[in-house]
Amino acid sequence: MTSSPTTATSPGTVTVIGAGLAGLAAAVRATALGRPVRVIEAANQAGGRCRSFHDTVLDRVIDNGNHLILGANTGVFDFLHEIGAQNALTPLDPPDFNFIDLSADMSWTLRPGVGRLPWWLLHPHNRIPGSRLADLRDAYRLATASEDATIADCVDPAAPLFERFWQPLARAILNTDATEGSAQLLWRVIRETLLTGAAGSRPYLAAKGLSAALVDPALDHLRQRGVSVSFGTRIRGLEAEHGRAKALVTSGGTIEIAPEDTIILAIPPSEAQALLPDLTVPTETRPIVNLHYRVESGLRLPGGVPFIGLVGSEAQWVFNRGDILSVTVSAASALAAQSAEAIAATVWAELARVTGAPGTPIPPHRVIKEQRATIAQTPAQLRLRPPAGTRIGGLFLAGDWTDTGLPATIDGAIRSGFQAAEMAASGN
Ligand SMILES: Cc1cc2nc3c(=O)[nH]c(=O)nc-3n(C[C@H](O)[C@H](O)[C@H](O)COP(=O)(O)OP(=O)(O)OC[C@H]3O[C@@H](n4cnc5c(N)ncnc54)[C@H](O)[C@@H]3O)c2cc1C
Repeated sequence: MTSSPTTATSPGTVTVIGAGLAGLAAAVRATALGRPVRVIEAANQAGGRCRSFHDTVLDRVIDNGNHLILGANTGVFDFLHEIGAQNALTPLDPPDFNFIDLSADMSWTLRPGVGRLPWWLLHPHNRIPGSRLADLRDAYRLATASEDATIADCVDPAAPLFERFWQPLARAILNTDATEGSAQLLWRVIRETLLTGAAGSRPYLAAKGLSAALVDPALDHLRQRGVSVSFGTRIRGLEAEHGRAKALVTSGGTIEIAPEDTIILAIPPSEAQALLPDLTVPTETRPIVNLHYRVESGLRLPGGVPFIGLVGSEAQWVFNRGDILSVTVSAASALAAQSAEAIAATVWAELARVTGAPGTPIPPHRVIKEQRATIAQTPAQLRLRPPAGTRIGGLFLAGDWTDTGLPATIDGAIRSGFQAAEMAASGN
């Protein structure tokens, strides 16, 4: 996948359906390639699964879920550069991952280093408690895993490192449990992030929220270039003739598509399949639960760090922004089945311990269950990801669920949007 615009060779309007990050990236790149672009979005705001909003209970602007971007996510940085928002994300310095195991009352810091295998797992000064030489053998198995292998096929589920390293990594990167997540996909990310040291693994945070960092600057950029963005317009049907799209159907009417025009569908897999019934798409998703608590000022994470990983608890990652403590629980099928109040109470008890205030009454909070946060990144589901091109001429797909070779992340979504725009612009 290329990351810079190439020359457009065919005229015609590019219609981008969906204003998540894949759609926004497609619109930005198609505009840069000199094509007239319009964006059509079903919701009343852009950003899709990566958005901010004002919450009335907390009286704060919160994100639907905490998002972590890593130094290796070059698609994200290219996008930010293109929309003039290169300083929108704050790098974490030092690039450390701090962990607490609540069940064993232990803490450690992960400081990745450069190499072909994660030798730093065993580093005497910052090793993960319980790590052993045999863990490097597991890492080697992961590095050489077949397409069908799960993470648990490669690493020892009984070893202390399973719950303290492999499982948190699988859930955070793949939103899929290590017992079913793809070993190959996880290793690809480890290779490009943790094994490149600080360069690839440094976390970047959206200090003012996801929309302020990634979405609003993209909308401003597009509007300044004359791109129309229509909200509240759901595409319900697609009419084709002689192998090319002819019209898009909305509840308000029909949008004609000229023969020289192209369309980029940047919508979730189930929506894409509803428009293109013979399209093969991943069918399983996994939820992410996010909890936001507005806490008394002074309640901070240990060491005042902006985020921390938790093990031996329901909570997996805790982020601190201003007076909001936000918790992420990925691959959360079991937790998401519980009531919001039950989840909030369980997780608050853990958080109160972490912040050194056990027994503190539960503060104002908001629980957000994203039931279809990402596709399930199992070997079987990954095989169902379609390429950007479709059987209909001039119609392309984008989205984190398409065959990017990357996990279903912001970076994958943006790179897929760039690629679809380049294909649309070249008439390929
Ligand atoms: C809670 C949570 C935490 C996450 N954490 C991380 C993280 O830490 N790091 C990371 O990189 N990624 C993370 N992700 C994943 C990331 O958010 C997604 O990969 C990315 O936002 C997907 O973008 P997209 O454009 O492909 O899809 P979407 O964001 O789903 O965008 C699709 C858009 O299409 C619109 N649409 C749907 N149907 C139609 C229709 N028929 N007509 C018109 N419009 C339509 C939708 O309203 C939506 O705006 C997380 C996701 C969630 C939910």
